[in-house]
Amino acid sequence: MAAAESFGCTKAKTPEIKFTKLFINGLFVDSVSGKTFETRDPRSGEVVAAVAEGDGEDVDLAVKAAREAFDHGKWPRMSGLERGRIIMKLADLVEEHVEELAMLDSLDAGKLLHTGRDVDIPLTVNLIRYFAGAADKIHGETLKLSGEFQGYTLKEPAGVVGHITPWNFPTFMFFFKVAPTLAVGCTMVVKPAEQTPLSALYCAHLAKEAGVPDGVINVVTGFGPTAGAAVASHMDVDAVSFTGSTEVGKKVMEAAARSNLKTVSLELGGKSPLIIFNDADLDMAAQLAWQAVFFNQGEVCVAGSRIYVQENIYPEFIKKVAEKAKSWVVGDPFDPQVHQGPQVDKEQFEKVLRYIEHGKNEGATLITGGKPTGDKGYFIEPTIFADVKDDMSIAKDEIFGPVMSLMKFETIEEVIEKANNTKYGLAAGVVTKDIDIANRVARSIRAGIIWMNCYLITDADCPFGGYKMSGFGKDSGLHSLEKYLRVKSVITPIYGSPWL
Ligand code: NAD
Repeated sequence: MAAAESFGCTKAKTPEIKFTKLFINGLFVDSVSGKTFETRDPRSGEVVAAVAEGDGEDVDLAVKAAREAFDHGKWPRMSGLERGRIIMKLADLVEEHVEELAMLDSLDAGKLLHTGRDVDIPLTVNLIRYFAGAADKIHGETLKLSGEFQGYTLKEPAGVVGHITPWNFPTFMFFFKVAPTLAVGCTMVVKPAEQTPLSALYCAHLAKEAGVPDGVINVVTGFGPTAGAAVASHMDVDAVSFTGSTEVGKKVMEAAARSNLKTVSLELGGKSPLIIFNDADLDMAAQLAWQAVFFNQGEVCVAGSRIYVQENIYPEFIKKVAEKAKSWVVGDPFDPQVHQGPQVDKEQFEKVLRYIEHGKNEGATLITGGKPTGDKGYFIEPTIFADVKDDMSIAKDEIFGPVMSLMKFETIEEVIEKANNTKYGLAAGVVTKDIDIANRVARSIRAGIIWMNCYLITDADCPFGGYKMSGFGKDSGLHSLEKYLRVKSVITPIYGSPWL
């Protein structure tokens, strides 16, 4: 690992924090209890802001505002074209505020500022524009019925939607949920992760400025077991869309079942395999593997955290990835020279370090890294384990940190079986020059996204979401609109038609 220029806080570069209160019915308000919680800078562990701590009472108020905006407000009754125009304005505003949003996400989550500026926020803007364009293209079908009847389907907005989001891509994740929900004409309550509440509040303010009516987007910051659970169990929420861990996803589904049977969609954890065959271009494969694991400090749900390398190239591959560690800079995410920032918080930092200890104790070979770095904050060296076995915890569990697990395989049959031998099914990758092998792997792996000779590439038009215990329902792409729509069949008699 290259020497980090800076680990600490560069105060001059930190953004101004304008919004720390709940956003309900178009206003920033204190929580009913008056309580606040601290959000911390992962570079140092220091407090950056006290944010309103919403709980059940605040969620009630937010749902009431969303209900009123849905039942009597203009948003669901506006033409799709008009909604699209406002959503497009919101995309322009997000684009104009790229710097502020990227900074807030760096401060809250430890994400690289330049990645936020060049990747996360531009992707977010594309996503919002995509759904702005979709708003006037939502329609049903005509139905061919037997006898003298005709029918058609209507696609109607589902009502009030609850969104519960994680901390790893705060701004992007906010709009992953909010943009399609706006497009179909629903209203909503968003509960962002407690580690990263700042950009969601900023985005709510931008939505108001764009012309989204009051009550359509409400943001309740606070903790999962209180504010999040209140959203999932609320009798007046019609659908809940959750992104987070599999463990909490189950709780959300239980809460929905116990309350009003609201529809549920879950984007959960993963342990995605990246399979590299003997014929792969080794440099390209090593680069893909590196990005697949270490992008965003390893805090990526689709991270390629199980890397299967075919036996002939396995020793050389280990050398190539180990070499990359030498020029990889861990440090202050506001510094443009840095490649990897801190983990999001102390809990995540300690969890990753525990997994590294498990890896050592379970007999994997530590190739590089394996330690915290920096004198404060939550920085961890990029860590590579080789000779990992499928039954080790570092091969089975989602670590959500900068830890690469390398495993050797011999045949395609063997690796397909190993790759599928997981409770998860979020993503997978295959690197080979042989199109037949690539196609066979793509068809055989039970996962929601397969990357061939690339990794982590996605776009607004790509449905994103898992199989198995990685959840169900898609974010992004036109499929995601379905989560927030209801289908109604309308049937009428038809008399005197020349054709039946
Ligand atoms: P988490 O499950 O701990 O928290 C996610 C959200 O759920 C937070 O807003 C949290 O406050 C809330 N929450 C916690 N307990 C709750 C409860 N009882 N009821 C309702 N809400 C509750 O996950 P995290 O640590 O924030 O994020 C990391 C996890 O998210 C990883 O497992 C990762 O794979 C997953 N993730 C998945 C995707 C995807 O698209 N599949 C994307 C990003 C992250």
